[in-house]
Amino acid sequence: MTTVEERQAALDAIAGEIRACTLCPLHEGRTNAVPGSGPVNAEVMFIGEGPGATEDEQGLPFVGASGRLLDELLNMIGMKRDQVFIANVVKCRPPGNRDPRTSELTTCAPYLDRQIELIDPKMIITLGRYSMARWFPEGKITQIHGQAKKIEGRLIMPVYHPAAALRNPSWRPQLEADFKQIPALIRQIGTIKDEEPPEEATQLSLF
Ligand code: SF4
Repeated sequence: MTTVEERQAALDAIAGEIRACTLCPLHEGRTNAVPGSGPVNAEVMFIGEGPGATEDEQGLPFVGASGRLLDELLNMIGMKRDQVFIANVVKCRPPGNRDPRTSELTTCAPYLDRQIELIDPKMIITLGRYSMARWFPEGKITQIHGQAKKIEGRLIMPVYHPAAALRNPSWRPQLEADFKQIPALIRQIGTIKDEEPPEEATQLSLF
């Protein structure tokens, strides 16, 4: 598979599988599955936890209050939503917005794995604990947010979930500071070694 069109068609086919998926109990309460949105050639992926009520209604990721904050943060660093791919670790809304269960995370994981493989982004920003845990299972978000690591050739950076910053406004400046690192980290990616945090990641002050 070589062309962007073929890759986009493959990505759309995964979205079709997700919309029809009944592999875990989360399908029972959903209005719509939320496969994710964005182009197959996105350089950056944002991965959150699971759809909320508005996302479930619309079948789109990050369209509620958290989505508005995500849009503001993207705008702040000169990025637009249609340039990036936005997804979640579970594609269907957990009832009452409860945390996703381990079995649900495990069952749903291959969809996200396939999306990442097709998109092949330079950088993944995890939003919140559950997506962070895919790459940093022992990590504590309060300790490792904003610290990018190159893992298997790709830069992974955990940050607070926008919903957490809305609940705790004192976290917002830190979330903004973490986002402000993204453009420079993408530019530097070729010089960053695997499994080592980039030296400047905690020092950059670009804006
Ligand atoms: S959460 Fe994932 S595995 Fe569960 S039904 Fe939805 S798409 Fe399928």
